[in-house]
Amino acid sequence: LMVIGIGTWELSQGRMSLGSLLAFMAFLVQLYGPIRSLARLVNRLHAASAGAERIIELLDVRPTIRERRGARRLERAAGEVELRRVSFRYPESPRLALLDVSARVEPRQTLAIVGASGAGKSTLAKLLLRFYDPLAGAIALDGVDLRDLRVRNLRANVALVLQETLVFDGTIRENILFGRPDASPGELAAAVRAADLDEALELLPDGLDTRVGQKGRRLSGGQRQRIAIARAMIRDAPVLLLDEPTTGLDAESSRRIVDPLRRLMDGRTTIVISHNLLTVRDADSILVLDRGTVAEHGPHDELIAADGIYARLYRLHQPEELVAGGAG
Ligand code: ATP
Repeated sequence: LMVIGIGTWELSQGRMSLGSLLAFMAFLVQLYGPIRSLARLVNRLHAASAGAERIIELLDVRPTIRERRGARRLERAAGEVELRRVSFRYPESPRLALLDVSARVEPRQTLAIVGASGAGKSTLAKLLLRFYDPLAGAIALDGVDLRDLRVRNLRANVALVLQETLVFDGTIRENILFGRPDASPGELAAAVRAADLDEALELLPDGLDTRVGQKGRRLSGGQRQRIAIARAMIRDAPVLLLDEPTTGLDAESSRRIVDPLRRLMDGRTTIVISHNLLTVRDADSILVLDRGTVAEHGPHDELIAADGIYARLYRLHQPEELVAGGAG
């Protein structure tokens, strides 16, 4: 309005031509766009600086463990895992989370870890992946103390399937190849088949190239777990750590991932943290933790016969099988 007002005034005084006024107004209209995008840029700058702050925070986090100088290289482990009188306390906690825990898993055997909530099952898993080091005692892979191994080598030897799988906003193919990006198409196809994903893929419009959405929300819980199994399969590590992947699923979905899980466990040392005792029966031995200490240790039948903590937990979770077991 000011431009029109002042322009008309100047025009009437003969100090400006009509053409100049019109040209001025045409340029003015073109100015709005860039000004608006400048404002948008400021917004984006704010968002980006908040993001950058979080990235810097993350980069600043000091790892709780340090790699020893001259740490040993280990290509592919045979898969013998040993806990040697492991005790551990979280840095910020006053009490011990684990006390004097010993166990040994031979290559290709399965150890199940059970115990009430807070018994220290997940803590053991964190120590095995070396997110922390034990306070006393040691964990060894193929007889070598984890502290003497390169962290990268250790973690390359362990595949992980958790209760809640981390799925990234990408395609199913990308999510599986995350286990080992240089896997061949043949290996990818084999992993998909072994994880029983092929049927589900046929129903999807783009098959392997279907985008899964943020946190994989376009997939069912069972499908997410089968992606995790395929990912671990393609990783092909000799040691497998399962934080009972059936926990969040309903009975039907759980049953459907038991076969792929068995295929995954075949030929690998498996340590399974069990919450609902679905997969423990077949384990070669079972370690029962009670408030951070080993309460019982042995195969299923032995522990049932001993009628201790394990037998009680087992009855709690599988009442109908108990009837069958009692009859036998
Ligand atoms: P759940 O079956 O509920 O997962 P859990 O057997 O895996 O239980 P852990 O998570 O290993 O139990 O916890 C063992 C103990 O360590 C608990 O007393 C817990 O409070 C404590 N704890 C776990 N994580 C931390 C932490 N980051 N800092 C301090 N204490 C912790």
